[in-house]
Amino acid sequence: MDMNRHEFELDDLIQRIKDNDNRLVALQVPEGLKMQALEMMDAIEEDTSARIILAADPCYGACDLVHDKMQRMGVELVAHMGHSQMNIDSGMPTEFINVTYDGDPAIDPVLPILSAHREIAQKRLSESLNESEMSDEEAQERFMDAVGRVSPLKGAKLGLVGSIQHLHLIFDYKERLESAGFEVEVPVGGARLSFPGQVLGCNYSGDNDDIGHYLFLGSGDFHPIGLVLHTGKPLAMLDPYTGGAEEMSFQRIEGILRQRFGLIMSCDQAKTFGILIGEKPGQMRRNLALRMKRKLEKHGRKGYLLALEHVGPELIDFYPVDAFVNTACPRIAIDDSVRYAKPLLTPFELEVVLGDKKWETGYKFDEIP
Ligand code: SF4
Repeated sequence: MDMNRHEFELDDLIQRIKDNDNRLVALQVPEGLKMQALEMMDAIEEDTSARIILAADPCYGACDLVHDKMQRMGVELVAHMGHSQMNIDSGMPTEFINVTYDGDPAIDPVLPILSAHREIAQKRLSESLNESEMSDEEAQERFMDAVGRVSPLKGAKLGLVGSIQHLHLIFDYKERLESAGFEVEVPVGGARLSFPGQVLGCNYSGDNDDIGHYLFLGSGDFHPIGLVLHTGKPLAMLDPYTGGAEEMSFQRIEGILRQRFGLIMSCDQAKTFGILIGEKPGQMRRNLALRMKRKLEKHGRKGYLLALEHVGPELIDFYPVDAFVNTACPRIAIDDSVRYAKPLLTPFELEVVLGDKKWETGYKFDEIP
C-alpha cells in the first residue's frame, strides 16, 4: 500500500481553526494512518496558531469520537480524520476530514466473478417467486444454501459499495460496470451513513430487494464479511491498493455462522449473563441493553449491566457469569469472540438462546441504525 497516494484534505480544517481562533485542537486519526499523524500535526501547527493534541487511543470509526473528556483538557475543536459524520452528538465541535486514495484499478479481473454472481442472483430471483409456499424444512435448507438471510428478491442488480476513502470513484465505476453490461445501483443508506455507496462494519442499510449481488471497492474483508452476513448475497471485492479481485466465499461465511450457532448452543443452560454497554457515543445502546435484561428476567435468567469504553477479554473474562451479550460495536462479538474465555453473543443470538427468535429462518446481523 502506497500511503503517499492518500490525500488528506486539511484546508477546511485550517480555515476553521483560523476563523474561530482555536488554540487547542484534538486530532483523531484511524489506526491505519497513525504513522502519518505527526506529519499532519506539523502541517496544522505550521499554518495556524493552534496547538494540536493527538487523541492517541485506538480509533476504528466515527462512532468513537473524542467527546467531553477532552473538553476538560481545554480542547475547543476535534479534527476527526478518515471517517464520515454519523447521526450522533459527541458534545464537541467536530470537523470531519476526508481522506481519499487515488488508486483506480481496472475492472477486468472482477468481471468473471460478477458474471457468475449475477447468475446466482437471477436463479434466486426466479426461486423467490415461490417463497410463500415454502415449508419450514425448505426454508432451513435454503438458509444453509444462501448463507444467512436472503430477503425475497425483486431484482438481480449489482449493488456497488465501497469504503470511505474510495467513494469518490464510485460513480465513475458505476459507468464502467454499466458499459460492461451490468445493471448497477449505488445504494443509499440511512442516517448513520453520509455518502451513496457507503457501508460500515455495523450498517448496510442501503441494501434493498432489487440488489441481487455486490461489488465492494476497498481492501480487507471486514466490510465484506458484514455485508454477506447481513444480506446472504454473493459479493466480489476489487482492491484499489493492489488491483486484485476475489470473492467473499460462502464457505467462509458458513464457517462464521457455524461458530455463532455453536456459541448459541453452548448458552443453552447459561443462567447468568453480563450485558455489555459501550460508552463510545456511536456505540451506546442503553435501551437495547435494558431490553435484553428484561428478556433474561422474563425467562428466569439473570443479566448484569456492565458499561465500558473499550471491550476486551482482560476487562470482562473474570466476572462470575456464564456468558456475555454485547450491545457495543457489533463486530466485537462476530470478529473477536475466540479471544474471550466465555461465550460472547449478539442480542439476536441471545433471543435465539431464549427461544424468542428462530435461527432456521435466517441469521439476523446486529446492525446499528
Ligand atoms: S463497526 Fe464498530 S467500530 Fe465500525 S463504525 Fe460500527 S460500531 Fe464503530
